[in-house]
Amino acid sequence: MSARGSADTRHRARRALRRWALPVWALARRCRPARGTWLIFAGHEVGSELPHLPDSMRISVAALERRVRWALARGRVVTVREGLSLHAREEERRPLISFSFDDAYRGIATEAAPLLRRLGVRATLFVHTGTWTGEWLPWTDLYFALERALGAVPLARALAAELEPREALLAAAERSSYELKSVLHRGCDEERRDGALRALHERELGGAAGLARSIYLQPDELCAVEDVFEIASHGVRHRRHARLDAGAQRAEIQGARASLEGALGHPVEGFAYPFGRSADLPEADGALLLHSGHAYACTMIEGVNRRGSDPYRLRRWPLEELASESELSALVRGGLPRWLRR
Ligand SMILES: [Zn+2]
Repeated sequence: MSARGSADTRHRARRALRRWALPVWALARRCRPARGTWLIFAGHEVGSELPHLPDSMRISVAALERRVRWALARGRVVTVREGLSLHAREEERRPLISFSFDDAYRGIATEAAPLLRRLGVRATLFVHTGTWTGEWLPWTDLYFALERALGAVPLARALAAELEPREALLAAAERSSYELKSVLHRGCDEERRDGALRALHERELGGAAGLARSIYLQPDELCAVEDVFEIASHGVRHRRHARLDAGAQRAEIQGARASLEGALGHPVEGFAYPFGRSADLPEADGALLLHSGHAYACTMIEGVNRRGSDPYRLRRWPLEELASESELSALVRGGLPRWLRR
C-alpha cells in the first residue's frame, strides 16, 4: 500500500473510532464537575461578505448563533479578559466559555456584533493595526485571492519562478492549497514571499493599495462594536513571532498596543499571537508581553485551559461551521485524550 493509501486508511479508522467513542466519552464526563475549565473558541470572519476567504476561515451567522446558545446552556460566557480573572476562583462552579475572533474582518461588525447584542453576550476581538494605513495587507489575503482566481498549481508555478524553495512549493501545491500555504508560511523568506505575492496580485488582480480598508475594520468601526467586543491586540503586521528577534517582537507588541489605546482611549490588555501554532511562537515566556502591559496571550494550540494554565500561552479551540457537540461537551468537562482528537 502506498504511504498515502495507508494514511487514508488510518484517517478513516480514526474517524470511525471518534464517531463511536466521543459520545461515550462525553456521557462519562457529564458526571465530572466542570469547575475550573475554560474553553476559548477561536474564529475569524462571520458571514460571507468577503468572498476571497476560504471556508475554513469563516462561520455562518446561523452556526455562530447555535454555538453561542450551546455555550449559554452549558457554562458562563465571558470575554477572555473576564475569563482570566474568573477561572482562578474556587467558587466559580460553571465552566467558562469565551468566543474570540482574530484579524477584525468586516463581518465582525456587520454580522457578529448584531447577533451578540441580541443574545446579550460579549466576545473578544484581536486586531492587527498595520491595516489602518490602507497601504499594507497581510500576505495571506493576497494568497487567498490569488489561489481563488488561479488555483493552487498555477499559483505555485508563478511564484516558483522567483521564489525559493521552488520544488517544495510545486510539490505542496500538487497535494493541496493548504500545504502550499504552509510552505509559504514557514519555508520562505518573508520579505521575498510578500514581494512576490504583491507583484503577482498587481499583475493578475490589480493593485492591493486600499484593499485593507475594505477587508478589515478601521478604528472608528472598532469603537462602534466595543459594547459587545473586548478589543485586544494581534500585533502590527501579523508576523510570525518565532522568527523575530526581541527588538522586532517588542516593536510588534508595543506598537499595536499604542495604536489601539490611542484609538480606543483606554488600556488594552490582551494579545493573540499571529498564526499561533507551537512552531509560530517565540521560545521566551510572556515576560515581554507582561512588561508591555498585557495580562494574557492566546495561541492557536488546541485544547482547554484549567486553573494554573500559563496566561501567556492560553489554548483555544477552532470555531467551526460543523462542530461535534459531543466533542465540545467533553472539552468543557475537562478535556479530550489525544487519541480522541482530530
Ligand atoms: Zn490572525
